[in-house]
Amino acid sequence: MFEPPRCPNRDCPRHLALESPARAFYWRVGSYQPRCRDEPVPRFRCKTCRIGFSRQTFRHDYRDRRPQCNKPLFRLLTSGVGLRQSARLLGLGVQSVQKKFCKIARTLTFLHENLSAELPTGGTYVMDEEETFEAASIRPLTMPVVIHRETWLVVAASVGSIRRLAPAGTARRRRQAWDEGDRGRRPDESSACVYEVLLELDRRIEGRLTLQTDKKVSYAAIATGVFGDRLRHETTASTRLRATHNPLFPINTTLAMSRDNCGRLRRKSWLVTKVRERLRAQMALWMVYRNYVRRRFNRDQTDETPARLLGLVPRQLFPEEVVRWRQDWGARSPHPMSLRGDRSIAEGHQKTFGPGLWTPRVVSGL
Ligand SMILES: [Zn+2]
Repeated sequence: MFEPPRCPNRDCPRHLALESPARAFYWRVGSYQPRCRDEPVPRFRCKTCRIGFSRQTFRHDYRDRRPQCNKPLFRLLTSGVGLRQSARLLGLGVQSVQKKFCKIARTLTFLHENLSAELPTGGTYVMDEEETFEAASIRPLTMPVVIHRETWLVVAASVGSIRRLAPAGTARRRRQAWDEGDRGRRPDESSACVYEVLLELDRRIEGRLTLQTDKKVSYAAIATGVFGDRLRHETTASTRLRATHNPLFPINTTLAMSRDNCGRLRRKSWLVTKVRERLRAQMALWMVYRNYVRRRFNRDQTDETPARLLGLVPRQLFPEEVVRWRQDWGARSPHPMSLRGDRSIAEGHQKTFGPGLWTPRVVSGL
């Protein structure tokens, strides 16, 4: 029942059209029987470029030996469980869990990119930084996160090192001095990371927007540099009571949720990030869970995820859908809700919401 939606060869004219090409662009050339599946996988050949491919070429679990573990692994890793415990629960080796984790993170980075390519103009966004560390607490990291205020959609997150020296003369300061003697002075990437998440926001919005942050001095300059006169910047003192009427309540709660759902962000835990790039990977998983799978508030309907409330998808996505199709073809990637893979991200959106409401950005060169 699977029909290839396009030729997988990026240089082929049968790949490039946003709409699926005519059905007759390929020949069927039998099938093969993988050991991990009950049913055979069909193979095809493109009539234009003569390249051979199979159904698996379009799927996230291409070349996986235990494809059935992807969905439970996504659920475990967005529920505060660590990589080793996930490996024990799924009966996998820890290295294969690490590989699956990185592969899922890659797909879900593209998935969020594809589904949130455009955000409404005139909205209000809230940004703050979360602090954590890599390997040892003397090596702190910062993680700026920006969300849409009304729907709590997590738009972007970034990770970078920061330098926080303990008071001179303390044992902690001596450890920091030894550490910097070994590795060189710890760079402060806070401003660069804030700049990166604001650029991610800027790429998705055409017109004006309001940004709410705390009173950290560098934010105003960075935000004006990114948005210019499209920006309205509102600040709140971080000393203000952190109750529901605090303008930063949505971002404070979002960051608390990330600590709850991601084991490596918990305080006093063994599940420490060893390499900062893996924290980025973890955030890719968590953002898809938070935006597309989990409802916004517990009092909302099950279906009311941030992305649905913002109109990016017509309903909530299920864990098996987010790890179903490859997503590295931009708006040409199969839509996660498409059971047969025959609707691209661009087509899926137009069929649901009508043409003209949303123009997908074609990400080229990925
Ligand atoms: Zn082709």
